[in-house]
Amino acid sequence: MKKTRLLAGVLLAMIFTILNAACAFAHTTTIDGHLDSIEGCAIAGWLWDSADPETSQTVTVTVTNKSTGEIAASVTTEANEHREDLRNIGIGTGDYGFHVGIDWESLPEAVYSVSLSSGDVTLTQTLSHATGDSSVHGTLVPLGTFKTTAYCPCYQCSEGWGRQTSSGALATANYTVAVDRRVIPMGSRLLINGQEYVAQDVGGGVKGNHIDIYFNTHGETRQHGVRNAEVYLIV
Ligand SMILES: [Zn+2]
Repeated sequence: MKKTRLLAGVLLAMIFTILNAACAFAHTTTIDGHLDSIEGCAIAGWLWDSADPETSQTVTVTVTNKSTGEIAASVTTEANEHREDLRNIGIGTGDYGFHVGIDWESLPEAVYSVSLSSGDVTLTQTLSHATGDSSVHGTLVPLGTFKTTAYCPCYQCSEGWGRQTSSGALATANYTVAVDRRVIPMGSRLLINGQEYVAQDVGGGVKGNHIDIYFNTHGETRQHGVRNAEVYLIV
């Protein structure tokens, strides 16, 4: 019995060693890069293979619809534009920049994830981007899932403050939200369910990952109730 246990232990140890070696191997890719920005239709970034710095790599930028998981667009190009900033920080010759064009207007209104790959290697870093009628055409930083509630100028909801917010601004529907300023700084632009809001208010009960959305009428606040939503900071 003891012998069997010992054998099992040795086998387990061997399996772990093999797994660790496999993981180490998977992580030793010499491909490195970054998605830098989304400005209008242009997505900029860089990618190189530190083991082969003389050869420019082929990169693929993939745009995935975050709600459906569908690939909405995929563009392949050569990463061979000169980037002095890369050379300055010791990344080879610096000739590894690229730009690709994505026609956001042709895509359905949604939040998209943008990822970068070369061959079999997909970089873990991604950017988020929202399209649609709203003026949101910025880079989105995901803040995670928040509880959302609603308030209105009625005495009960506003604790007697009416439309007066803590920032001094008058609360406006489809614009004003109250936040916990330890989680979200005042004045932050936020994207919640495709609508852009600004953090203009605080509330006694608004703590942590909780956002209180301003509406004109108490009926609308009742309709909203308590929901969960993915919240993005627009930068
Ligand atoms: Zn109310």
